[in-house]
Amino acid sequence: MMELFEYEAKELLSKYGIFIPKKYYLVYNSSEVRINNEPVVIKAQILSGGRGKRDGVKEAQSTLEAKQIINNMIGTTINNFIIKKVLIEEKLEIAKELYISVFVDRNKGIPLIMVSPYGGVDIESIEKENIFIRTADPLIGLQKFIVRDLVQKLILEKGLQKEAEKTIFNLYKIFKDYDAELVEINPLVVTEEGKLVAADAKVVVDDNAIYRQSKLQELDMKDREGLTNFERKAFELGVTANEMKGDIGIITSGAGLLMATADAITYYGGEIGPVVDLGGAAFDTTPERITKLISLLKNLKLKAILFSFFLQIGRCDIFAQSISDSLGSISDNIPIVIRLKGNKDDLAKSILSNKNFFLTDYFEEAVRKVVEKSE
Ligand code: GDP
Ligand code: MN
Repeated sequence: MMELFEYEAKELLSKYGIFIPKKYYLVYNSSEVRINNEPVVIKAQILSGGRGKRDGVKEAQSTLEAKQIINNMIGTTINNFIIKKVLIEEKLEIAKELYISVFVDRNKGIPLIMVSPYGGVDIESIEKENIFIRTADPLIGLQKFIVRDLVQKLILEKGLQKEAEKTIFNLYKIFKDYDAELVEINPLVVTEEGKLVAADAKVVVDDNAIYRQSKLQELDMKDREGLTNFERKAFELGVTANEMKGDIGIITSGAGLLMATADAITYYGGEIGPVVDLGGAAFDTTPERITKLISLLKNLKLKAILFSFFLQIGRCDIFAQSISDSLGSISDNIPIVIRLKGNKDDLAKSILSNKNFFLTDYFEEAVRKVVEKSE
């Protein structure tokens, strides 16, 4: 999953017509603060929730106080995330806090809309009878009567109901347009002035869709915490990657297999370097993408690369052809071990058999081989 920072998520909301607090600054240290002694809220920008309960959201009445809070906040951790930047926003006068979200129901494979008239930091402890969930038909779209019905549950005065309907529709639009797994506003605030404002926002995008989400590249990816150069470039290719310090590269078709492969390599004494998960989209990975991926991997000075694949829906032969085509374009020799099992693996084997790498049916053999090559 690819989670956006709150300030990125809010920019997105704002583009879709949802009101957000008037933004002041994103700052990395207190010397960057430029405000005129007005009351503000200072919010830690980390990819984790629960900040409200853990000193990650603080009010300041003056510029001096804001600077002090920022000095104290930056460099500390919440839920193991180091706070490197904070958002300074106008302080909202809150009359009521609501909850709304759109997310994927993994069992049914459809989007759900969830609302509650009791949003805020204690969302986990809201009683079931105060949480309302409806489905959105992915083909028909989100229907008006469903949204109206949900808005009724929010117990709003008449004047705000239209705005609330609009907000839910817009949230659903973001969810669809960005291939999100989750878009959430908690709290959606009714201000003392009677406006509806998103005080917090969370957007999580499905990793498997990143390759077709060029819009996400408009966001400042350079700013993304913790991403190495390799990880960022892999992200731009639309794949999920993690760079560790070892010298064996791993490319797999799913997070579970990736974990198992990484564990097995460690067990046999290998050192894991970059790991790349092509996920469910693995089967239609083009030779071009694999070529780019491998050349990215090669910049990392690895000793060996393991393709650890199990494809049930995707076709092994198509993927094998991609590997075969892309390896042809790479000149020097880095040992490559391939284990490719599943749908049409016989065809895959015949495509790869007379090429210059180690091919095996067996997971364990593949792992041992790649460790041996890296020694
Ligand atoms: P989270 O705890 O990480 O989800 O962070 P939130 O952004 O949701 O903030 C936690 C709580 O801080 C919210 O539920 C609000 O009650 C409060 N809060 C956030 N922004 C503002 C604001 O602008 N003004 C006021 N008064 N409170 C805020
Ligand atoms: Mn929140």
